[in-house]
Amino acid sequence: MSSYQRICLMHYHEIGLKGHNRSTFENRLMKNAEAILAGYPVVTMRRISGRILVFVKEGTSYEDAVEMAQVMAKIPGVARVSCGYICHQDLEEMYDAAQQALADAEPFETFKVQARRNHTDFPINSMDLNQLVGAHLCRHFPEKKVKMKEPDVEVHVEVIEGSTYIYAWTIRGVGGLPVGSSGRVMCLLSSGIDSPVAVWRLARRGAIPFGVHFSGRPQTASTSEYLVDDIAHVLEKTGCIARVYVVPFGDYQRAIAAQVPPELRIIMYRRLMFMVAEALARKVGAKALVTGESLGQVASQTIENISVVNAATQLPVFRPFIGTDKIEIIDQAQELGTFDISSQPAPDCCTLFMPRNPETHAKLDRVLEVEAALPLDEWIPELVASAEPHDYRCPAVNYKKLARQ
Ligand code: ATP
Ligand code: MG
Repeated sequence: MSSYQRICLMHYHEIGLKGHNRSTFENRLMKNAEAILAGYPVVTMRRISGRILVFVKEGTSYEDAVEMAQVMAKIPGVARVSCGYICHQDLEEMYDAAQQALADAEPFETFKVQARRNHTDFPINSMDLNQLVGAHLCRHFPEKKVKMKEPDVEVHVEVIEGSTYIYAWTIRGVGGLPVGSSGRVMCLLSSGIDSPVAVWRLARRGAIPFGVHFSGRPQTASTSEYLVDDIAHVLEKTGCIARVYVVPFGDYQRAIAAQVPPELRIIMYRRLMFMVAEALARKVGAKALVTGESLGQVASQTIENISVVNAATQLPVFRPFIGTDKIEIIDQAQELGTFDISSQPAPDCCTLFMPRNPETHAKLDRVLEVEAALPLDEWIPELVASAEPHDYRCPAVNYKKLARQ
């Protein structure tokens, strides 16, 4: 039995993908995947019949192909990934390739063949192909059973544009939209558990995330900055972060702590964080802020406090976790791969100058009154000017153009 060229297929959800939208989506996904898979054994990629076909380098082992497929499955926009083989429109070759594809799908008990013919040049229709390939597989896998309804494995035989694609091994992808199909957002990124996952959630909806991290420096060590950099590297693997601004915030917190009644300090830190984030957002063309807030999780996340902080910005603020339990966020952080990094303790601006009894029901009038005494007109431009940009690799960003912004 000869061995056939290995392929992977990236499938995407087609709902809502019509007309112009569709080709924009496909082009974006292709470009993202090409950049993300640059270090992997890929020969070439092309679009066929509603998916992206990836030719795997000759000689690539099954294990390496699976590892690559697992990376593909994490690229936003990818709904499923299959690994299999390409062969000619020839029945004997199809039998062989189907046999190899089914062997790759072990362990399993039941299977069925699902043939599709996009090309009427091939004389055998899909019903007959199902039967023929099915009968061949039954002979070679006598201990396995054919099951029409919900089998463990489906062997797909697709006759398309002169070739046949055969695959049985399939994994689920993260779904969503390709990064770069929904515009830019500015994410308030701590080294905690929640905000890194919030960034990823927005990326999965097609946004290009930029981050801003407020560090306690020079009042604290820079531990949180290293953790944020590690987190950004995890997000970078699938193109889910473009740049992170690190803003040394310690001196400003100290100044706030010296002038603002203790119970209002956190609110004041957070309003200032939002104002700086908004200024940075405008600089890079981001049209919304993102936080990892979850209702009632900590004192600053009551409805009253959220609205008082929200009033510090004109931009919409997206909080993907507002109704999510911590346990669920932790599960997602583990899946994303940021949980262990986020679990390391780091003093950041949130641990600095913390009051014992923070206000939980802040009133905007009172906060504005206190805030009026702070030199925000000086502070905001100073903080924006001191923001240190760190770039990560996001295929949807033109970094030369960004440098001029
Ligand atoms: P997280 O796990 O994301 O840190 P949290 O449960 O610790 O969240 P808070 O510390 O109140 O909650 O922070 C709420 C949100 O404010 C965070 O999700 C993040 O978006 C933002 N934030 C908090 N601290 C910082 C920081 N040092 N720099 C940037 N953003 C921050
Ligand atoms: Mg935190």
